[in-house]
Parts: sequence; C-alpha cells; structure tokens
Amino acid sequence: MAARTARSGPTGKGSLVDRFGRNVTYLRLSVTDRCDFRCQYCMAKQTSFLPRAQVLTLEECLRVTRVFVELGINKVRVTGGEPLVRRDVLWLLERIAALPGVGELVLTSNGSQLERLAVALRQAGVRRLNLSLDTLRAERFQAITRVGQLSRVLRGLAAAQAAGFERIRLNTVLIRGGNDDELSDLVAFAIDRRIDIAFIEEMPLGDPGDRRRSGHLGSDEALARLRENFALIPSAETTGGPARYWRIPGSPMRVGFISPHSDNFCDCCNRVRVTARGDFHPCLGQDAVIQLLPLLRAHPADDRPLREAIVAALGLKARGHDFAAQDGAARVGHFMSMTGG
Ligand code: SAM
Ligand code: SF4
Repeated sequence: MAARTARSGPTGKGSLVDRFGRNVTYLRLSVTDRCDFRCQYCMAKQTSFLPRAQVLTLEECLRVTRVFVELGINKVRVTGGEPLVRRDVLWLLERIAALPGVGELVLTSNGSQLERLAVALRQAGVRRLNLSLDTLRAERFQAITRVGQLSRVLRGLAAAQAAGFERIRLNTVLIRGGNDDELSDLVAFAIDRRIDIAFIEEMPLGDPGDRRRSGHLGSDEALARLRENFALIPSAETTGGPARYWRIPGSPMRVGFISPHSDNFCDCCNRVRVTARGDFHPCLGQDAVIQLLPLLRAHPADDRPLREAIVAALGLKARGHDFAAQDGAARVGHFMSMTGG
C-alpha cells in the first residue's frame, strides 16, 4: 500500500487517520505508573516509579484527552498502573465523561479499590469495567500479584456488579504453569456471575527475567482446553477491540480471546496510548513515542502545537507489532504498567 501521511480532518477536527488508512477513535490513557500490586508479567519485583513532576497532572490529563477528542477520539479507556490509586481520579473521570464527543468512558482496574469506589465510578460516568483476575486461588493470586489479596478483589467485583455498570469483563492473562489448570474454573465463575471473560496472551514486554522459560500459552490451546468442558459457539460480536468472542449456550456472557501472538489484529487497530508521563505511543508494540508533556507545559494556553504533534506522531504508527517470536524475549523495552494496559 502506498504510504500516506497521518491526517486529521480539514479543520483539524473530526478524524485521525494513520498512513495505512486506519481511523483512530480510541484513546487509552494511563493516569499513573503506580500500582498497589506487582504482577509478575507486568512489573519488576523491585520497581521505581516516576517522580510526581514527571507525571501529567489531572488537569493535563484532561487537556490531552480533550485535544484527542477534538481530533476524533470517541472512546476513552482510563488505565494505569492502577488508575484507582491515583488521588482524585474521580475528578478526572467526571470531566472526561462530560467532554462533548466522548461516547464511551471505560476503565481497567485490578479491583483492589472497587469496594470503596464502584458506586462513585458509575456516577462519574464510567460505563464499562474491565477487571483483571488471573486466578481464583488466594495463594496463587498472591504469588502472581506478589502482594494482592483475592478476597478484596472479589468484594470489589461484587460492589461493581451492585453498582450497575453496563458491562463487566474479567481479563485473565494466560500463564503457562501459572493458571492454565484453572481456565475452566474461571469461565464457570464468569458464567455464575453473568459477566464476560477474556483471556489474554501474555505479551513480551519489559524484562521479566527467567519467568517465561516455561513457554507462552496461546489462545488456540486455551480454547481447545475450554471446549472439553463448554460448548463454545463462535460469535461475530466485537466490542471495538481486538478480542474475538465465543458464546456459551444458555448464558448471556461471552468468552473472549485477545491474541497478540497468534492472531495479529493490527489491520483493524483503532487505538493509541498516552502514558502517565505524557508519552504518546501510536502502537503498543513499538518503542516510538512523542513526548507531549514538554509541549503541554511550554504552551499552557495554546493547543495548536499539541494538536500538530499528535497528528504528526500518528504518522509513526506502525503497520503492526512484532510479538511473533515465541522465545520469551522482550520485544519492547517497557512494561505494561508504564504504557498502560
Ligand atoms: N492495573 C490495572 C489492571 O491490572 O487491570 C490496569 C493496568 S494493567 C497494565 C491492564 C491489563 O494489562 C491487565 O489486564 C493486565 O493483566 C494486562 N497485562 C499486563 N502486563 C501484561 C503482559 N505482559 N501481557 C499481557 N497482558 C498484560
Ligand atoms: Fe498493577 Fe495492573 Fe500491572 Fe498488575 S497488571 S501490576 S495490577 S498495573
């Protein structure tokens, strides 16, 4: 395909189209690199966090989001690190939800703070929630997250269900030798709770040391194992993301698979990311970034330089990522907690 440069609509409003013709409508905004868990696949055991001055303020998060929305973004996912450990995050969520043009505000969380915040999040305008849950066994949960308490997350899930989110989806990372004996239990749990579940192939981000030697577990293998216990029916449904869904007969819930290794979904990628320090990542699997924070601070009352930088940076969006290698080596130098999951 002939290379096109990224462009926005004629007035700088209305559409963000990359050089491969993909319309970018979905922003994932990480509001903190901090987290109260230390999941093995996401963070190093000893990790240091950004100094506060290098993190976007909540006002800056709102300004960046507003500019993206003016350029054509209509769905915003707030993530982290753990977004709910950011002080006053509700202030930000309420304002993002109220931006003209934001059709959907959604959140990804580890659930640790949900018992306290679920009702306020729903009132702030968060419509859907992704909740990470890799195991239903307390000891294992603590081992994977290094510090987390399963019981607290389960109470958070119950609070979220009571708060009336439009949809809740569990996100489960497939960890060979870590939770692959529990896949059916997790689906049964989701059926029981009448919520969706998506299994995510582990992405080789950062440097987790020896952990991946046991090998990567792919969606196909996970699906085959689940089919031994459930009659899964392929579904053409989409939530606008990379998940491929299966339905369980007699249940409203879906089982999804997000397969960055085995089912490259880059052709229809509609998303970009902004990290807690204001780095704009056009593609998760690529190290190319543009730093928005210096622009925000150098031009506090003029959005034009920011807007132009965003449109220009979209020109860096790769055709696709390169997670194909199965040897476990990290393909890019950052963990998910840095870029926002
Ligand atoms: N702290 C929140 C949470 O855990 O849901 C939000 C941020 S977390 C980075 C977002 C998602 O990324 C989680 O579902 C997590 O399981 C997933 N994740 C983190 N590292 C990953 C990796 N290396 N491969 C695949 N998924 C990963
Ligand atoms: Fe924290 Fe989420 Fe990363 Fe786990 S996956 S360490 S909960 S940011």
